[in-house]
Amino acid sequence: MAFEDPLPKSLSPSRLQDFQSCPRKYQHASIERIPQPASYASAKGRFVHFIFEQLHQLPPAERTIDRTREFVAPAIDAVLSDDVRSDIGMDDAMLAKLLKETGSIITTYFEMEDPRTINHEGVELRLGVNIDGTPLFGILDRLDRDEDGQLVIVDYKTGALPNRDYDTSTFANAELYAALCEAKLGEQPKKIRLLYVAQGEAIERNVTEVIIKARAQAATNAWQRINRYYEDGEFPATPSRSSCRFCAYREICKADGVPVPA
Ligand code: SF4
Repeated sequence: MAFEDPLPKSLSPSRLQDFQSCPRKYQHASIERIPQPASYASAKGRFVHFIFEQLHQLPPAERTIDRTREFVAPAIDAVLSDDVRSDIGMDDAMLAKLLKETGSIITTYFEMEDPRTINHEGVELRLGVNIDGTPLFGILDRLDRDEDGQLVIVDYKTGALPNRDYDTSTFANAELYAALCEAKLGEQPKKIRLLYVAQGEAIERNVTEVIIKARAQAATNAWQRINRYYEDGEFPATPSRSSCRFCAYREICKADGVPVPA
């Protein structure tokens, strides 16, 4: 069965993650564009990202905690649309919880770094490149220039810390962003900093040419498979407890006879 909808023009790091966890998820999200309802966690992530984006677009001297708190009210208008509120069943108690947690995250963030001292190369940096015939596009939270003059990929995380034995998937998105940066800017980022802003912990990893090449190759392999499945008219479902647990398409898959784990 041929798809009526076109193949997306490019592959983003998050859509690649969809595809790698389950090709059928990619089909529903990126080809058929079946909306994924917001969750409290995703709404909170967008809320906090909005505030930090506004903060880091200010001139350095103005990046104070008081100015940061001024962006909370605009975030309510920008992020908490009627659709989002409906998806997550937001009532006054939930809004109060979100505002309390956001206030705590802002306080914690200012204990992690002083944004007045951060030297950016980009905030919400749009990166579109073609690597070996694979069109890639993503928006990077921050690209910093550290005190040694090296580029650093910075990504805010509002969820739980990975456990101490965190695996390569923790850094997979950011490593692909490093490949995008190198292709777009002609300079290789040297480090990744994941800022777990709820817990006040930063996890760092160095970037090497080997890692960048491996991430770019994985994206190219995935893009070739995506094109093949698209031509075939079906993306295989690969159900697993971890992939299906928070998937928005559980009911669709069950109706299609996919053995989705409980
Ligand atoms: S419910 Fe499971 S099998 Fe279905 S799309 Fe989601 S991850 Fe894939």
